[in-house]
Formats: sequence, structure tokens, C-alpha cells
Amino acid sequence: MVKKINRTFLIYSESKGSIFCAPCYLFSGTTSFATVCFSDWKKGEEKIKRHENSQHHKLCVMNMKERKEVLNRVDQKLKYQVETEINYRKNILTRVVGVVKSLSSRGMPLRVDDDHFGSVHNGNFMMSFELIAQFDPFVAQHIEKFGNKGKGSTSYLSFNIYEQFISVMADNIIQQMAKEIRKLNIFHQYRFYS
Ligand SMILES: [Zn+2]
Repeated sequence: MVKKINRTFLIYSESKGSIFCAPCYLFSGTTSFATVCFSDWKKGEEKIKRHENSQHHKLCVMNMKERKEVLNRVDQKLKYQVETEINYRKNILTRVVGVVKSLSSRGMPLRVDDDHFGSVHNGNFMMSFELIAQFDPFVAQHIEKFGNKGKGSTSYLSFNIYEQFISVMADNIIQQMAKEIRKLNIFHQYRFYS
């Protein structure tokens, strides 16, 4: 019976067709697991076990643990940047959905030819965002930074973005209507009377 042992410190490199030891690789280990990558599959189990129990490997693991505790995570900074960016997008897109829902629910057009923030001739979508910006510093800052940047810059406020939301909302509404119709069994009744 094959015994499965979970060794999370080992990483497989597809391009090299071999494995290496992450703590030893990151913390200047000198064994083959850290330098040239390991691919001696015949004696794999035996050598991995020996490496795992070596003082050298244990030292590298300890170094990695210490660093993890000091910095919380080795990639803490990157993780923080990604989370910040995701939250930023979520915040701005939540407001876009809110404005699209409000205007659409009253059958109001969202855009006109003039699509410049600050213009008194721009459409209802932009006008709504300008209004929100008066009381919401986050939106005010966003419009100032990205509002009139034009093509090539992602503002999340262009018609391309909100038209995608409208399309998703329309699909949802159609699906919901179809569900309700199916529930009422209208088609069966129609067939019966016709
Ligand atoms: Zn190691």
C-alpha cells in the first residue's frame, strides 16, 4: 500500500522536472534541494527523509518561521496591496450598481454625447456621481484622479462598465421572470384553453 506523506515545504518545478525545498531555497540552504533541485526519484523517499531530518534543513525552516512571525507573512506587503485594490474596486463598483439601479428603475437615460465630469451637459449617470461626490470624499477623490482620463485608464465609471452591469441585471430579471412564469404554470393553462 502506498503511504501518502504531506510535505508542504517541497515545491515541484515543472520546467525543471524536479523538486526543491522552499525554506532551504529561500534561506540559502546548500544542499541539492536548495541549489540544483532534486530529481533522484529512485532514492527519493530515503533522501527526502534524510533532508527533512538534517540540521541544515531544520535551521532553514526555523529561519522561515521566525521571518513569518516578524512580518506575519513573507508576502504580507503584496497581500496587503492586492486586498486594498480589491476593496477599492468593490467600493467604487458598489456605487456604480447603486446609481444604475436607481436611474434604470425610473426609466431614465444614463448617458448623452457629453461624457465629461464637470460639464453641465453630461448625462444622468455622471450627474449622479457628481452629486454623490459632494458628500462622499472617496468618490470625489476617485473622480478627480480618474474621471476624465479617457481611454486607456480604468475609471470604472465609463459606459463600458455600467452597460455590462445593465446587461447582467437584464439577464437576471429575465431569468427571474421565467422562473415565476414556470411557477404559475401559465403555459400549461394556455395550452388547455387554446
Ligand atoms: Zn530543506
